Amino acid sequence: MTHEPRIYLSPPHMGGREQVFVQDAFESNWIAPVGPNVDAFENELSEYVGSRGAVALHSGTSAIHLALRLLGVSAGDTVFCSSLTFVASANPILYLGAAPVFIDSEPHSWNMSPEALEAAFLDSMKMGQLPKAVVVVNLYGQSADYDAILQICDRYGVPVIEDAAESLGASYRGKKSGSMGKFGIFSFNGNKIITTSGGGMLVSNDLDALDKARFWSTQARDQALHYQHSEIGYNYRLSNLLAGVGRAQLQELDARVAARRNIFERYYAELSHIAGVSFMPEHQLGKCNRWLTALTVDPDVCGITATEIVTKLAERNIEARPVWKPLHLQPLFTGRRYYAHGSGISETLFSQGLCLPSGSNLTEYDQTRVIQAILGIMSAPTVLYQ
Ligand SMILES: *Cc1c(COP(=O)(O)O)cnc(C)c1O
Repeated sequence: MTHEPRIYLSPPHMGGREQVFVQDAFESNWIAPVGPNVDAFENELSEYVGSRGAVALHSGTSAIHLALRLLGVSAGDTVFCSSLTFVASANPILYLGAAPVFIDSEPHSWNMSPEALEAAFLDSMKMGQLPKAVVVVNLYGQSADYDAILQICDRYGVPVIEDAAESLGASYRGKKSGSMGKFGIFSFNGNKIITTSGGGMLVSNDLDALDKARFWSTQARDQALHYQHSEIGYNYRLSNLLAGVGRAQLQELDARVAARRNIFERYYAELSHIAGVSFMPEHQLGKCNRWLTALTVDPDVCGITATEIVTKLAERNIEARPVWKPLHLQPLFTGRRYYAHGSGISETLFSQGLCLPSGSNLTEYDQTRVIQAILGIMSAPTVLYQ
């Protein structure tokens, strides 16, 4: 055991100006899920992303829920969704009583495979039921390959929800991540590239749809003096205090992207020479924000598994994590349809993949600790420990 302090995977990183915005909220007494910070955060974020509008919400999950409902998803429908992702990408499909259909990754970006997507569409045509929407995830801060994906979805006339929870600040063909689909969603959870402690955003060019989302997110209260409701609503709006934190965080975003990319570059420089180790590639049309540095370890070449490395890093007080367990392997989704790319990509990424500490506030000293630990773990044959 080490007595060195714990190194976290992706801790919050405050810039310093957050308290100014929060103080403003206190002074004007806008301590509510409404107020000037909420409006300004929406404007500033949509301007950054290049979308016409945005709705600030209390989580990325609620943003996905509203996007699906805006696209008319309801009981009995199907929705396609990336399999290699966090469960929040698909849970809202279940909230609406619809059935998720999972799509594998392709090896160049680790994101949704256009080939598997096409297979899923062909099958759905045969079955006589096209999906109502496709949830495309930008994994670990890397944009999916939208040229290929949108071409397929447009051909079938099915809209895309871009789950950009992990990819704020990344881009694809020079366009900001989150602006590719009919709707884009972001998360400001504590572990994301910028945070409001908890929060999310729905973005789109369809301002009418965003107005509807804003209405649903505030209990769907009809215009009347008394309390009148004709539709189901939710309490999903972001607090004006937290929106203040978000505004200050957004000012730091480009610096955060640069910091995380530097962290990736250093891991790559110091670890990519190890036989059997491969880093998540950067797609040629995209620029990752490198939210998390992710890599795979081939146990046949390295003599150690990704899981063993995560465990041994934990013994050294370093938090690493396995790559997401694909949703089609989750007990929650047993029996759901799934379309693989070739013999399956996401399952291998899960069994061989891990994510390294990547916070934008990771010090050079702490990154050296992580690198030295991995070099030590990987050069020592595992049999010595057994
Ligand atoms: C974090 C995350 C979400 C959910 O965002 P919350 O704000 O935590 O609700 C959704 N999708 C992906 C891919 C995520 O990483």
